[in-house]
Amino acid sequence: MVGVFSVSSARNLLSRFAVPFYPVDWVKWVPTKLNIFAWRGVQNRLATMTGLKKRGMLQGSALCKLCGEQDEDADHLFASCYVASILWQKVSSWCKIQQVFAFTMKDLLEFHKSSAIEVQKRDYVQTILLATCWGIWKARNENIFRGKRVNIDAIFGEMQANSFLWIRCRAKKRLLEWSKWARFEL
Ligand SMILES: [Zn+2]
Repeated sequence: MVGVFSVSSARNLLSRFAVPFYPVDWVKWVPTKLNIFAWRGVQNRLATMTGLKKRGMLQGSALCKLCGEQDEDADHLFASCYVASILWQKVSSWCKIQQVFAFTMKDLLEFHKSSAIEVQKRDYVQTILLATCWGIWKARNENIFRGKRVNIDAIFGEMQANSFLWIRCRAKKRLLEWSKWARFEL
């Protein structure tokens, strides 16, 4: 018999076998690959410089290629690297929420639960936080593997566009307009 794979079956499988070990909440409005990315990131299982070095796959320095100041692991890359810091400032001001502040990727993925964020904004903010981490990861890979300069405004713009499309399609918010989304008017 041919197995049937679907997003809901993957989610059921993860929740059945991984809870309570699944380290972050499933983000329902983004593609599955982003949730898998979050799952790996929170457990430090992404192929960061530190991760590669631990596995004996990297000789030499594990320094972050974006800032050159600290070793690169998921927590550095998404929470404390200067690229991330600037993006979190931009996200905070766009979403009109308190400054996004985190030490770890897990902190970031739980930030939407902060009591300072209005309940009706939380699913949107959760989506945006993960979409921003994903954007940083893609830009970091393009920088390392293709020599492409990291452009923070481009990461932010692409994240706004991706999150808009995902929310329109996956959250079935078909009435969401780009002009309003660009001002975070929900
Ligand atoms: Zn860095």
